[in-house]
Amino acid sequence: MAVDLINTAAAPGSPLADDLLSADRGAQAWWRIERARVPEGDPPDIRALRRLRLALRDIMEALVDGRPVPPAAVSDLNSFMQSAPASTRLQLTGTGLRAQTQWHWEYGGNPRLAFIATQAAEFLSDKSQAGRLRRCANPVCSMIFIAVNPRRSWCAPGVCGNRVRVARHHQRAGGA
Ligand SMILES: [Zn+2]
Repeated sequence: MAVDLINTAAAPGSPLADDLLSADRGAQAWWRIERARVPEGDPPDIRALRRLRLALRDIMEALVDGRPVPPAAVSDLNSFMQSAPASTRLQLTGTGLRAQTQWHWEYGGNPRLAFIATQAAEFLSDKSQAGRLRRCANPVCSMIFIAVNPRRSWCAPGVCGNRVRVARHHQRAGGA
């Protein structure tokens, strides 16, 4: 989900200047797609969502490029988690016990942001997981993706892989 979030924007300087979260309407559409995966309740302020995205992108790009992770991005991620912590509540039901996650709004944070940040923290701190992050091999694409197959080099083989193959083919054919 964190990877989905950072890919809602093209990287700065890339020719693809689109930002899916540039307007509230875009963010609403994004939450509709992700709704089933996140805690219930009001969606966060769009500026907070973009700040979380920036922190995640800074960390993931540093990892992908083999650079030191910026400490400011790490503390940003931590504050998203601290401002809306979760606790587990065990309940007696007629048929047995049920465990339920409760998100705490009373610290002023938003559980959806905390949820995404927590997922990201678990993913990024696991070397075998974070080691699968890749940047798309298409130079005009800025997507970062999780390579399930370690040899995959395109965010979407059917899109970026094909585009680059077609471009190479045209170069070989004399720039036609
Ligand atoms: Zn791509």
